[in-house]
Parts: sequence; structure tokens; C-alpha cells
Amino acid sequence: MTRTFELAGLIRSDNFIDGAWTPAQDNVRFAVTNPASGEIIAEVADSSPADACAATNAAARALPAWRARLPKERAAVLHRWHALIMANLDALGALISLEQGKPLAEGKGEVAYGASYVAWFAEEATRIYGDLIPQQQRGKRMTAVKEPVGVVAAITPWNFPLAMIARKIAPALAAGCTVVAKPAEDTPLTASALVLLAHEAGVPPGVLNLITASRDHAVAAVAEWLHDARVRKITFTGSTPVGKYLARESAETLKKLSLELGGNAPFIVFDDADLEAAVAGLMAAKFRNGGQTCVCPNRVYVQAGVYERFGALLAERVGALKVAPATDPAAQIGPMINSRALDKIARHVDDAVAHGARVLTGGKRLAELGPHYYAPTVLADATAAMQLNSEETFGPIVPLFRFEDEAEAVSAANDTPFGLAAYFYSEGVKRIDRVARALEAGIVGINEGAVASEAAPFGGVKESGYGREGSKYGLDDYLSIKYLCQGNLE
Ligand code: NAP
Repeated sequence: MTRTFELAGLIRSDNFIDGAWTPAQDNVRFAVTNPASGEIIAEVADSSPADACAATNAAARALPAWRARLPKERAAVLHRWHALIMANLDALGALISLEQGKPLAEGKGEVAYGASYVAWFAEEATRIYGDLIPQQQRGKRMTAVKEPVGVVAAITPWNFPLAMIARKIAPALAAGCTVVAKPAEDTPLTASALVLLAHEAGVPPGVLNLITASRDHAVAAVAEWLHDARVRKITFTGSTPVGKYLARESAETLKKLSLELGGNAPFIVFDDADLEAAVAGLMAAKFRNGGQTCVCPNRVYVQAGVYERFGALLAERVGALKVAPATDPAAQIGPMINSRALDKIARHVDDAVAHGARVLTGGKRLAELGPHYYAPTVLADATAAMQLNSEETFGPIVPLFRFEDEAEAVSAANDTPFGLAAYFYSEGVKRIDRVARALEAGIVGINEGAVASEAAPFGGVKESGYGREGSKYGLDDYLSIKYLCQGNLE
């Protein structure tokens, strides 16, 4: 409770609509809990379609004035927001750890990471260029200008409660759009704190609106946005089945969509790899947020010649990871988000063992720490018949698949409907070029496990979705192109 008290200045429990903190119209609330202990942190607004509609009303009213602001005026607001986020880095990091469970150092790292998108898009706001099209006929001028798409609905997951919503709101506001947003049931408090700081930074009433909802109420509340023709874009990060549902359900009003969906990332270690670097890269990519990231390696393919040595090296490192609540400064792996997540992890490990996998380390729940802890695990002799081959585990489990040659590894890596991230380690120049081109993924880490950056385009192919976040391309998803044809000029 001490920690909750320290954070009280940032904790809000109502919806934020038209510049004011407002309870849900039905006056219903749901509990937000600390996944490490089950302790209730706050009771927040449980929104209905009426609340979602009120948010859209505010966003639609605020749109004309916001889009008419000069880009450098919108940029100035975003720069102030960035400064406020960074000034509150410690408290926001603690809040993320409290409601999401990641170790404090990672919570703070997420704040800086999320804030970097706000700074990036503050700068990009002033670079929304159009084109003067080379003249085709005398007396006629053709130009292409970029305009904000309009009201944007942002729906985000729990695994990065600050970064995922920041990297949607920032480009939307930079482009001149207004926003209605709904964070995940498990982690609404960080999103509310972020909105509080945006308001303090000078985001005008109605430009940014946030509603919170329990899982039971979220479907109906979001459906209100899906069916409202004033909402011109949906930007979503979350699972592939929900992304497909949003696309189907919003089709009637043909909205623009950005879908950052699930992954099933392969990580390939060739026998010409620097094994130490490969182990370090895998540790960094796999165990951030306890393996609960969309780009974390889910299937690790190791070439036969180095298979046993790599497995032994990895198991030693993984076995030494410190599993503890976020409040322990030595924590490297925290609790999983909820019991559903833990049950899926346990099911994948049990299924793998039943299909012949060898447990090199871990392989069990850590009930003595709390209900949501699972030991970081390395499984050898993984095969395509196991559930963890085709499903995203979203936990601290590394299955090691053995392969003989490059063609076999690339074919196995691509044998999935998903295509978000892929990684490989090799010191061979020609192999690096071949494999980088052959992998079906939106993001490829080559001898590198940490790939995310506000300056790089983040997004997937295949059933991992479409659209890109960050980079010079990130604003395009919030803009539409208008072609102006002016005649009678001579
Ligand atoms: P999720 O179940 O799809 O939920 C994501 C968001 O959608 C939450 O706010 C959720 O609300 C809401 N939602 C769920 N069902 C809905 C429905 N029928 N209608 C309207 N809204 C609905 O995903 P998650 O479990 O929170 O997040 C994990 C997934 O996100 C993983 O698959 C991961 O790979 C993916 N992810 C992808 C990226 C990327 O950039 N590609 C980044 C991070 C995570 P509730 O919380 O109330 O259910």
C-alpha cells in the first residue's frame, strides 16, 4: 500500500472525456490488481457504449480546431508531453511494475522507450510534406497534400502499458487527428497517468479521450467505435484473432486500420555463429518482460553441430535468472500477467514434455513466490508436433529445435501464419544476405536481439498484421492523401 500511496499523484480511476475525469455513466467499476500479489490497486471506471460514444462526441468536436493548428504548434504540445513523461520516469516506471509486474528497471526502461516515440513524432509533425506533381497539361496544376484521417480509436494490450499507447497517440496527435483510446483491462492505470500528463502538457479538451473497461464490457464499448462512421481509423495492438474481429466488424464503415498483432518469432543459430553473442542476444530478446513480448523468440532453431553446446550454455544462463516481484531490485523475471497466461505456459511445457522434450532447466510453477510465477525454462528436442511450435507461448520458455541445413531452418522458420520478428546468428556474409531476404517477417534481427527503436519501422507481415509504428513511415497510417487539380491557370 505504501507504493500505491507514493503513486497517488498519478493514479486516476475515471474516464477522461472532453478534458475532464468522468465516472462511467452506469457508475460501475472494476478492480485493477497487482499480478505479484493479487492486491487491489484501484477500482476504475467500467465503461459502456454510452461512455465510448461520449468520447467520440468529444473527439469529433475537437477535430476541426486541432487539425487547423500549425504543425509546429502541435509539435510544441508533444515536446512538453515528452518532457513531463521523462520528468515522471521513476513514478511511471513504478506504476508499470505495480500493475503489470515487470521488474522496476524494465518499467523505467519502458517509460523512456515510450517517451522516445513522443519526441520522435513531435519532430515528424513538422515534416508532413506533400508533392507538386510534374505538369502534365498547360494551365493545370496537380498537387498531393496530406491530411489527418480524423478521429482515431486506439486499443492497446497489457504487456507494454505505456509504450504501446504512446506510440499510437503520439503520431495521431502529430498528424492532426483526435483520439479515443481504450487500454487493456489489466493495465489501465499507466494509460490514465499518461493522459493526465498529456492534459498538463496542453493537449486541448476533447483531443485525447480515454475510457477504461473490464474484459466483460470492452467488447460492447469498442463495438460502438467500430460502428461509428465518425471514427475514421482503428489502431490496434493485440492478438491476431481480436485484430481479425476488429477488421471484420468495422468493415461496414471502411475505416483505415493499423493492426500490430501476434508473433511466433523464430531465432536461428547457425553453426558459423558467434555462440556467446547468440546466447546473449537470445537472453535479451526472449526474457524481456518475462517473455511476454510480441517480438520475443518463440521457436529457437539450432544447427546440429552446435546444438548440445548451445543448449548447455543457454541453460546455465537461464537457470541463473532471478525470479522475484518487481519490488525486489535484483528481479530479472517478474510474475506473469494473470492466471490465464500461467495456465497457457504450463500447458505448453506439459505438452512438450509429453511429446518427448527434455527439460534442461525450469519446467515448473514457482508457487512459493505467488500464483503467477513460472520458472524460466529451456526445453531440448522440441518438434513441430508440439503446441509451442504453432502457438505464441508468451512466457519465459525456450524450446530448442535441431536442424541440419540452412534450407531446412528457413523453411521451418517461415512455416507459420505469423510474420512479425525473426532473428538469426551467423558470421557468414553471403548467408546473412540470403537468410535476411528469405525470412518472412516485418523485422529481422541479424546478430542482434534488441531490435525496437522509435527510428525504425515496427510491424509485421502475414497474420501479424499491417501498418508500421515509428520511423518516417509511422505518420502515414494517420494521414490520407488529397489530390488537388487546379485548372484554368493560363
Ligand atoms: P488481446 O486479447 O487481443 O487484447 C488487446 C486489447 O484488445 C485489449 O485492450 C483488450 O481488452 C482488447 N480486446 C480484446 N478482445 C476484444 C474485442 N472482442 N473487442 C474489442 N476489444 C477487445 O491481446 P493481449 O492478450 O492483451 O496482448 C497480447 C497479444 O498482443 C499477443 O498476441 C502479442 O503478440 C500482441 N502484441 C503485438 C504487438 C505488435 O506490435 N505486433 C505488440 C505487443 C503485443 P481486454 O484487456 O479488456 O481484454
